[in-house]
Amino acid sequence: MNHDSDSAYADYLRRPWWRGLRQWKIDNVGGKCERCGSTLNLQVHHLTYDTLGEEMPWDLEVLCKRCHGKEHATEILATMKRYGVFDHITPDQGAA
Ligand SMILES: [Zn+2]
Ligand SMILES: [Zn+2]
Repeated sequence: MNHDSDSAYADYLRRPWWRGLRQWKIDNVGGKCERCGSTLNLQVHHLTYDTLGEEMPWDLEVLCKRCHGKEHATEILATMKRYGVFDHITPDQGAA
């Protein structure tokens, strides 16, 4: 998916509402990566961007930085194959 404005998305990630939801989600899964169980460098991944701004907890997944990077590497590869370009660079902002 193409974030039509990267700065709007960055603004969104700074909103207190998102920070609250993000922390709730991390607490809800026991403060660890949902894939490997790591408790380090946790980030919250969007399973879909369709609900951006009104995410439900099931639209999100808690991943450590390593698993999150892998997730987006897969996504980026798929996008590259489809369009031959990058349209999603993983921001290192605690969420993407
Ligand atoms: Zn992990
Ligand atoms: Zn992500």
